[in-house]
Amino acid sequence: MGSGRGDGTRSVHGRGGPRRGPLVAPIAQTSTFTYDSAAELRRYLDGTDPELFLYTRYGNPTLRELEERLAELEQADDALVLASGMAAATTGLLSMLAPGDEVLCSASVYGGTARFVRELLPRFGFGGRFVPFEELHDLGRHVGPRSRVLCFESPTNPTLRVVDVEAVCAEAHRRGLLVFFDNTFSTPLVQRPLALGADLVMHSLTKALAGHSDLIGGALCGSTERIAAARGLMKVMGGCLDPHAAFLVLRGLRTLHLRVARQNENALAVARFLEGHARVAAVSYPGLASHPGHALAARQMRGFGGVLAFAPKGGLAAAERVFDGLKLVARAASLGGVESLVSLPVHTSHHGLSAEQLAAAGVDPATMRLSLGVEDAADLIADLDQALERA
Ligand SMILES: *Cc1c(COP(=O)(O)O)cnc(C)c1O
Repeated sequence: MGSGRGDGTRSVHGRGGPRRGPLVAPIAQTSTFTYDSAAELRRYLDGTDPELFLYTRYGNPTLRELEERLAELEQADDALVLASGMAAATTGLLSMLAPGDEVLCSASVYGGTARFVRELLPRFGFGGRFVPFEELHDLGRHVGPRSRVLCFESPTNPTLRVVDVEAVCAEAHRRGLLVFFDNTFSTPLVQRPLALGADLVMHSLTKALAGHSDLIGGALCGSTERIAAARGLMKVMGGCLDPHAAFLVLRGLRTLHLRVARQNENALAVARFLEGHARVAAVSYPGLASHPGHALAARQMRGFGGVLAFAPKGGLAAAERVFDGLKLVARAASLGGVESLVSLPVHTSHHGLSAEQLAAAGVDPATMRLSLGVEDAADLIADLDQALERA
């Protein structure tokens, strides 16, 4: 047997069902794969044997294992893993564009994605144009002859506003656009954008899918053709995932349903606590009946996610005091891990924006974003309570 073969690396839970061998798939921590013969190499080149690999940037059994799991989770034909969420965003968007095409992008997307659309696409001859959150349902004013892709997220970062994903995908398709959707905030357990009409879905694996804040990774999920196009680009642009990181994501996925359920429960408990707190001015969490997108979220999501936003009374100064006073919740960017994290968007994702730009993004300067981990809800509530009382 040529070791170019990926034998022994399919998990017992893979498509073949239970089999003998290691319970956990070994990591194919290798850059290259050996071949027995020119005939075997020719079979690799034919593409007829999915168990033959040549070089890890082109494909690797551990990466393939993760891609198959992610495709199952998103109920997609196929998936591609990449070095980061941003590698997924940039490779994915470029894979949908022809020379001169334009991306319409929701104004409420991840900062890195917004920067790619605003600064990089125009440098390479593509167009990038932003659509305010409120206008995603009617793109008439924004669509031009070169518009090709609509890129959006729901719930939005950091304000947790909810977009009607199915209606916006239908509007985009009516206007002849493809839809690129970032599902990082929700995970496929909470929301399945492909079933709601999206053409290509991305994830930052860094967040809830890996779940332990110990790696950077990204993924794309979609039809066989869309993933093949993205894979072709990735092979040349070079943003492949490392097999060891893929192994860690596979390990994280084993507890995804437990972690996400607990994060959702914690987020709802903490949101309800904050909503009733005398020192809190506003709470945004789609699971609260007071949230304007609650009914819509209940329809298109299963659970309401593990991230919420709130603003204490007293503006940014009070928010900074609450931030500094937290003892259990860690002050850090990122989300979706087992530890609860708090961030101040005016100092991270929305740093440097004017008061008018913040207002346009719907971000109160005192906004605190809280990503719930899997701790005991009572401990989290006690920590927030003491920080709010002392502020
Ligand atoms: C973190 C994040 C990204 C970027 O992912 P990286 O893995 O950091 O490159 C993109 N979109 C969303 C919604 C994110 O939270």
